[in-house]
Amino acid sequence: MCGIVGYIGYEQAAPFLLSGLEKLEYRGYDSAGICLNDGNELVVKKAKGKLAELKKLTDNGKNIFGTVGIGHTRWATHGEPSDVNAHPHLSDSCRFAVVHNGIIENYLQLKDYLSSRGVVFRSKTDTEVIAQLIEYYYKGDLIDTVIKVLSKLDGSYALGVISQENPDEIIAVRKESPLIIGLGDNENYIASDVPAILAKTRKIYRLENNEIAIIRRDTVKIINTDKEDVKKQIETVNWDIDAAEKGGYEHFMFKEIMEQPKAIRDTITPRIKDRRVVLDEISLTADQIRKYNKINILACGSAYHVGVVAKYIFEKILRKPVEADLASEFRYRDPIIDDKTLTIVISQSGETADTKEALKEAKRRGSHVISIVNVVGSAIACESDDVIYTWAGPEIAVATTKAYSTQLAVIYLMAIYFGDLMETITDYEYEMYISELEALPSKIEKILDNEESIQYLASKLFNSKDVFFIGRNIDYALSLEGSLKLKEISYIHSEAYAAGELKHGTISLIEEGTLVIALATHEELIGKIISNIEEVQARGAYVLGIASENHKEVGNVAQSAIFIPKTCDMMLPSLAVVPLQLFAYYVASLKGCDIDKPRNLAKSVTVE
Ligand code: GLU
Repeated sequence: MCGIVGYIGYEQAAPFLLSGLEKLEYRGYDSAGICLNDGNELVVKKAKGKLAELKKLTDNGKNIFGTVGIGHTRWATHGEPSDVNAHPHLSDSCRFAVVHNGIIENYLQLKDYLSSRGVVFRSKTDTEVIAQLIEYYYKGDLIDTVIKVLSKLDGSYALGVISQENPDEIIAVRKESPLIIGLGDNENYIASDVPAILAKTRKIYRLENNEIAIIRRDTVKIINTDKEDVKKQIETVNWDIDAAEKGGYEHFMFKEIMEQPKAIRDTITPRIKDRRVVLDEISLTADQIRKYNKINILACGSAYHVGVVAKYIFEKILRKPVEADLASEFRYRDPIIDDKTLTIVISQSGETADTKEALKEAKRRGSHVISIVNVVGSAIACESDDVIYTWAGPEIAVATTKAYSTQLAVIYLMAIYFGDLMETITDYEYEMYISELEALPSKIEKILDNEESIQYLASKLFNSKDVFFIGRNIDYALSLEGSLKLKEISYIHSEAYAAGELKHGTISLIEEGTLVIALATHEELIGKIISNIEEVQARGAYVLGIASENHKEVGNVAQSAIFIPKTCDMMLPSLAVVPLQLFAYYVASLKGCDIDKPRNLAKSVTVE
């Protein structure tokens, strides 16, 4: 998410802060701001919108002075994009300023605590509690105070802190969000990522979790939360700016595939408290939820595929009829929907025109709308009765990966939450689902560690002309996404088929060497899908199977197989989709396609 920069030296800080933020624009943002210590006080300038607004406000950095400062581009997670919610945030008396990347999960409790003691908040952000806590606990030693404040925070953060009283230092900390320190001559820098400092230096420290850096003009000291010195190696960065933006990877899509464990963790962790799912975002009571006789899911593209997965999950767990509808079709078919239907709308950008109009149609007909959206304050978020944000962070590659995965994670949270309220799941199942959900990110990491084997398979199979993805039940829902991922970025024709449906037509297209990717993760239907694999093999197909590691027999039947860790049926799509994403990625890469910007496609489809 977002971008942090900081400067301490003998030059004016503002020009560096603005140009550093510019280099971090690729990360996506909705507002920007800087704060400088002018020798007397902390001066803040911030503005919603593009950096051009901030540049206008500061006359390109010429009307704000000081040789120490911090800057930020914000991607809103708590509080809509606005001038006042933009960072840096000041404490009540304006003596401390903070920039933050990440999410403070317990900010509401902290805010209540501080408010009850008279602290006045200006913004709706989670971040402001950090600035206010620093002031609340400050007794003359900034480091001690920051360490104390960190002990109060749950969540993820990279922080840059400056204070009126300590004009000769920046304090930087990180936990789960990236932060680097650039080392210059008589000046030093902080940044979320390398591109921001490349024009100044190639020498950096990478902060690790819970390390605290005290950055002065000519020294950088790194300590841990027990105030012990941490010895770190200086790293020399050899990347050019293009590679640096992508974290050293060749494409944003690959970077975003790799970010999935973190994105899922960010989305689920704040919503599991004491092993219970907490979805405060949903305003419906248990009684109201029980009374719905149908659930309608509206979305387009990959978000629609999440809807199809959700149909299988909700019907099985909640025992209510569910329709997953393409938003563009729903609008024009006089749909049967009223106040007894609960509508769930899914959109990464929150601006998808077809989905937005379908949402309005559902509301016009009296349905309560819950949306699952990645962009805070987007049109769909504003139009919905309730919003559950995915915290995937900005997604830059056109083909979605981490947004899709976080949407699935929200579906699991909803299934557990509703299942509990409707008493359709047992205590044992509840407990098991929570454990499986919490284990998902590390299981995905395990698959990502093994990505070279998928690269190898892609190198054997990238010349395929037509590819069929087959699966049953939830595996069918996932095959829709696997097929879309491959065709949208590699331009290979592919189709997703319910495995049982093949013999009713499409099997006539299978010939010698046709690639069939068979999803064989669904426990109850493993025998059936193995029969389907044999059917296509008998017609000459080359089968790549994707199966749970407890079904090694799939490897004996299919010509190649990829195994994923075991989890409950409901959550298998989150694991099985990762090899499909990687396969599509490597095939497209071997074919030399423009992976991040496939032809004819746009990231956010705001036209009908
Ligand atoms: N959670 C913070 C906010 O909404 C920081 C977001 C970011 O990382 O940009 O202001």
